Amino acid sequence: MTLDPELAAWLDAHADGLDCGSTDAAALLPRLATAGLIGAGVPIAAGGSGGSCSSAIGAVAALARHSQAAAFVLWAQRVFIEYLLQSPNRALAEAYLPGLLAGTTAGASGLSNAMKFLGGIEALQVEARRRTDGWQLDGRLPWATNLLAQRFVVAVAASDVAGGAPAVFAVPATQAGVQRSADLDLVGLRGTATAALALSQVPLGPEHLLHEDARSYLPRVRPAFLGMQCGLSIGLARRCLASVRGSEDSGRALLAEPAGAIAADLDAAAARLSAGVDAGAFVDAPRALFLLRIQLAELAQQAAQLELQARGGAGYLHGRHGGFARRWREAAFLPIVTPSLVQLRTELARGSARQAA
Ligand SMILES: Cc1cc2nc3c(=O)[nH]c(=O)nc-3n(C[C@H](O)[C@H](O)[C@H](O)COP(=O)(O)OP(=O)(O)OC[C@H]3O[C@@H](n4cnc5c(N)ncnc54)[C@H](O)[C@@H]3O)c2cc1C
Repeated sequence: MTLDPELAAWLDAHADGLDCGSTDAAALLPRLATAGLIGAGVPIAAGGSGGSCSSAIGAVAALARHSQAAAFVLWAQRVFIEYLLQSPNRALAEAYLPGLLAGTTAGASGLSNAMKFLGGIEALQVEARRRTDGWQLDGRLPWATNLLAQRFVVAVAASDVAGGAPAVFAVPATQAGVQRSADLDLVGLRGTATAALALSQVPLGPEHLLHEDARSYLPRVRPAFLGMQCGLSIGLARRCLASVRGSEDSGRALLAEPAGAIAADLDAAAARLSAGVDAGAFVDAPRALFLLRIQLAELAQQAAQLELQARGGAGYLHGRHGGFARRWREAAFLPIVTPSLVQLRTELARGSARQAA
């Protein structure tokens, strides 16, 4: 996907600001909406511009070439929209989709903990208690991005204290008992409105329910969740490789070969990802998706290493690195966003051990 030139110029001017926090997600979301990025891959009947999930991956990748913070905000917004699209609660979707697509409501995904729960890595950190008219939620989300003050709605998975199935809810910022922390003191991506949430006796009704059974719902949304995350790696890697190509006439010709090899692997992996996500192949075969997520994050890291070598000493000087120092930090985010590479490898190893047994 090619970005609207006006948005690309704005991102290039504000990428460092989005990273260090002097520009924030509130300035970004309406621009993403106007450029048609939030609606990519959203059915026309639901208010989007149509296309498949790979269009949304392409939109995240196009942004990540310019700014990982902007791309991650789009990921949060777009993945929340996906939760609505795949929810049986049509009234909830109809209530939120217009504001989310316009960028006036901020969608947040507090489901890292739930994705780890799905992989048997940790327990859910939020509990739901049944009440006559719905549920009461208590617990804590240590991380969520795109928490624009008073304007967010966040997806939360909660265990049932009575022992029933864990459920997934859409919790609005304005609901009683929802407390947002100050923005977390991050080393980068500071303009992403990333904070912690405390939930204390939050009353929710059936109108807030995304799905009554997290165990059947999360595996169905996981391909979009992970696939769009892969867009972060794809875009960053492409941007770093473009810088390497631009340096070949300054005594760095020997970098052309490894850059070409990374680019070929990147194109092949990105094509497999798009085809698999669009065909629904990863719902029942998550291992293939895990392997692609690991491979793409590693390719992005290799591309950043190569850009470092292409820039040489100039890359280490303030004002002389053309955004490289930011991209170096951005690359450090890719292995740790949930599911982290450690968590994915742990799940893959467990799967192999089960097969061997
Ligand atoms: C910029 C950024 C944005 C993120 N946005 C989201 C989001 O939108 N939604 C979402 O669900 N997750 C989000 N996360 C969380 C992320 O995806 C991981 O869950 C998080 O990095 C913890 O994973 P871990 O591998 O450290 O695992 P863990 O095993 O959970 O943590 C490893 C160790 O680090 C400690 N630790 C982890 N987090 C914190 C913390 N906040 N404060 C103090 N100690 C901590 C743990 O106690 C543990 O000792 C974000 C993370 C970052 C860096």
